[in-house]
Amino acid sequence: MRAFYKRNQLKIITIVYWFLLLYIVAALILWFVELTQQNDYMASMRLVELNKDDPDYLSKYSHILDLRKRKTFQYVGEGATFLILILVCAVFVYRAVRRQIKLSHQQQNFMMAVTHELKTPIAVTRLNLETLQKRRLEEEKQQKLIANTLQEANRLNSLCNNILVASQLDAGHYQLNRQEINLSNIVEDSIKDFAERFTGRRFICNIQPGIYTEGESLLLQMLVNNLVDNAIKYSPKDSTVTIALEQNNNSLLFSVADEGEGIPGEEKKKVFEKFYRVGDEATRKAKGTGLGLYLCKRIVKDHKGSIAIKDNQPGGTVFIVTLSALKTA
Ligand code: ATP
Ligand code: MG
Repeated sequence: MRAFYKRNQLKIITIVYWFLLLYIVAALILWFVELTQQNDYMASMRLVELNKDDPDYLSKYSHILDLRKRKTFQYVGEGATFLILILVCAVFVYRAVRRQIKLSHQQQNFMMAVTHELKTPIAVTRLNLETLQKRRLEEEKQQKLIANTLQEANRLNSLCNNILVASQLDAGHYQLNRQEINLSNIVEDSIKDFAERFTGRRFICNIQPGIYTEGESLLLQMLVNNLVDNAIKYSPKDSTVTIALEQNNNSLLFSVADEGEGIPGEEKKKVFEKFYRVGDEATRKAKGTGLGLYLCKRIVKDHKGSIAIKDNQPGGTVFIVTLSALKTA
């Protein structure tokens, strides 16, 4: 029962919420109808009590009708104000609750993912070090274990950087240290690093040398790494990742294209939300925290640029980052 509630929390809350709202609106309408009927009844009673021989009969008659009209206006006015207030508040509260539930789901997903992402590299590193300590291995095997341990340490490092920078950017504590940056070098270094880590992968690089921008080196490295990491993570092992960097007058274009499954149209905006990951956490194979693209968007925004997603042909995704270039080509 509890599991069912947890799984369908948003649906159940939506149904209960709209039921309550309908009930309130129906009660308001009923209240309005009853008041108008009562008003009509009171007016007709007063009219019956009037004496036709009274010299003021006509003025009293029109006064009663006037009173009835004024009361009806009052009820209509008050009813409409209540109805508008209730509807506005209902929409506001519903949206806030919905956002909160979604955020809490995403945070739960994030906690599950981050626990796994932290534990795996630590466990692998520990096992590798214990093996190196206990057994005398051949040189080649030793190097393989060391390389594997380094890879896990790198993963842990980029995960920690993502989490730290995201929380600093969110809290507004991050001081952007703007410098003249050679982006071509950053992209080339990053690709070199990925090519060493993923030896079976094919990378096509069209990097125009000597492209400069103003910004923070660490953040730009994170931007490049996150996009290339995604392209590798979300496409088949034997497919190609194409990375390009070029300058167009005063702006520079950095793009990462893969041949993976692609991102469906309606998800293209959502993937930049914090902790958002396409699909279901329980069935998803690729591990991650959903922070990478959120960070990319923040970094690009802080560098006064833009980031867009396009479909690759015949399949896959292309991420295109536009930033302002420092020196014209
Ligand atoms: P993290 O980068 O924090 O380790 P992550 O890769 O899941 O985790 P993001 O980089 O923010 O998080 O990506 C969000 C989601 O967007 C991913 O979970 C994935 O579903 C989708 N996505 C991102 N890049 C691609 C891509 N190149 N191809 C297909 N889907 C992608
Ligand atoms: Mg990612």
